[in-house]
Amino acid sequence: MKKIALTLLASLLAAAAAFADEPAEAPAADAQAPVRMITEATFPPYEFRQGTDVVGIDVEICKAIAAELGRGLVVEDVEFDSVLPSLIAGKAELAAAGITVTEDRKMKVDFSVPYVRTGIVLVYAKAAPCEDGASAAGKRIGVQNGTTSADYVREQLGQEPEMFDSPASAFAALKQGKVDVVIADIDPAKNLIKGEPDYDISDFLTVEEYAVAIKKGQPELLATVNKVIEGLQDSGRLDEIVDEWTAKADALQSAGEAAE
Ligand code: GLN
Repeated sequence: MKKIALTLLASLLAAAAAFADEPAEAPAADAQAPVRMITEATFPPYEFRQGTDVVGIDVEICKAIAAELGRGLVVEDVEFDSVLPSLIAGKAELAAAGITVTEDRKMKVDFSVPYVRTGIVLVYAKAAPCEDGASAAGKRIGVQNGTTSADYVREQLGQEPEMFDSPASAFAALKQGKVDVVIADIDPAKNLIKGEPDYDISDFLTVEEYAVAIKKGQPELLATVNKVIEGLQDSGRLDEIVDEWTAKADALQSAGEAAE
């Protein structure tokens, strides 16, 4: 009995020594570093700036994922069309930016289960209503660079959109008469017209779903991300997060401080 115990101890020590020799130390230390989330913070209520902090629904989802991994979260803010390239280049572990799941993007990154069903709408001046895609055709259409709104203009209307770096700058161009109509995701679009009685939004032009993106080939991380999102959905916590951050983004917009 004693001999078996000693043999076992010896092999455990040998295994421990072999393990200590492995260069597996670095990832272990890395595991304590905060999870890096990449986003584009002009997209209330999903991500926007409150003072210098980037906050919003996507940040809360990624905080919950980081907590599940036993780590903190740092948020990096880049242009929307750099979000997925930066993720693929390994600059972040999670990308969450109201990112619509598309067939094209699925070839480049892995997506979590979707956490919201949504779509894009037209934003127009009530004096010049534009309530469906056909009415927008041939007009000057402002969109945020790299988005599904830009895809819609090219693929469904067969024309080139006018590109802006945020939904807010596209809306500013609409107000200045530099474009005739804007296309954007419904939630940031609603946020834009808050307190703007001369502007309105159309019904959905598309049905889209947002998901968290990760670099391909990480089944464990994907399983964790999905588990956290499904947990937030099942517990009702996701609905609370959406309500809370929609109200906060609206309050900020009313105060005239929303991200440009
Ligand atoms: N949902 C849109 C897309 O994925 C827009 C996202 C965004 O501008 N943050 O293209």
